[in-house]
Amino acid sequence: MNFENIRVVMINTSHPGNIGAAARVMKNMGLKRLYLVEPKSFPNYEATAMASGADDLLSQAVVCSSFEQALQGCHLVLGTTARERKIQHEFIAAREAGILSAEESVQYEVALVFGRERTGLTNEETGLCHKLINIPTNPEYSSLNVASAVQIVTYELMMSLRAQMNTDDSGSGSGSGSSAEPDKIETESGVEYASSENMQRFYQHLEQTLIDIDFLKIKQSPQLMPKLRHIYNRVRLEQEELNILRGILSKTQKLL
Ligand code: SAH
Repeated sequence: MNFENIRVVMINTSHPGNIGAAARVMKNMGLKRLYLVEPKSFPNYEATAMASGADDLLSQAVVCSSFEQALQGCHLVLGTTARERKIQHEFIAAREAGILSAEESVQYEVALVFGRERTGLTNEETGLCHKLINIPTNPEYSSLNVASAVQIVTYELMMSLRAQMNTDDSGSGSGSGSSAEPDKIETESGVEYASSENMQRFYQHLEQTLIDIDFLKIKQSPQLMPKLRHIYNRVRLEQEELNILRGILSKTQKLL
């Protein structure tokens, strides 16, 4: 686990107090990197007040003009949502998200994405997420305060770090047990996944090619690109696989 590789992305947050509260719980759980996509008001005294002693996270927060910009450098993007989506997405529990993010952060940059207070994440935004996290709640009142959602997801991260540390401790007594673990991690993480930027370039390339070959008419089938993005997010492409797909698209365009 490398907490430096994990960022929290908050999109279009309306209440500055929620940004401060999120910064506070992040610092409680050992995280530092806060990205704010077009916050309604930031910096803001309410954010600073709610952050309490975590105003260092606020002063280092990266304010971005687009979601894509906030995802730069990331290889794993996990969104959070209170509601079911029209397009079937892969949902994971916050606990699983904690374990997955902890594992991936050893090698890759991970983004945990939180939506607008009233409307959450758009379908376009969930289309850039590999998986969606849902925190189980009362079905009749399922929407958590956004900073509370940040609290629960980052708490799970902290718990998975502790579990990992316990495993390491118990293995250190027996020589062979402690040497087996790092090998396993290295083999599992030896794969180079495609970065979020490269995935976005690929989607643009794919969209343009589909338009060129007359398969896609954006006005008639607005759901096609979200569906295609969903397929590729589910698969979690490796960089080498992405290169093959880009090669096929380039060749197709050349032949036209
Ligand atoms: N109607 C919105 C609610 C937004 S609540 C929606 O459907 O998502 C603001 C943000 O808090 C959400 O975008 C999400 O990031 C987080 N959140 C709230 N409740 C959640 C839950 N039960 N599980 C996961 N994330 C949740």
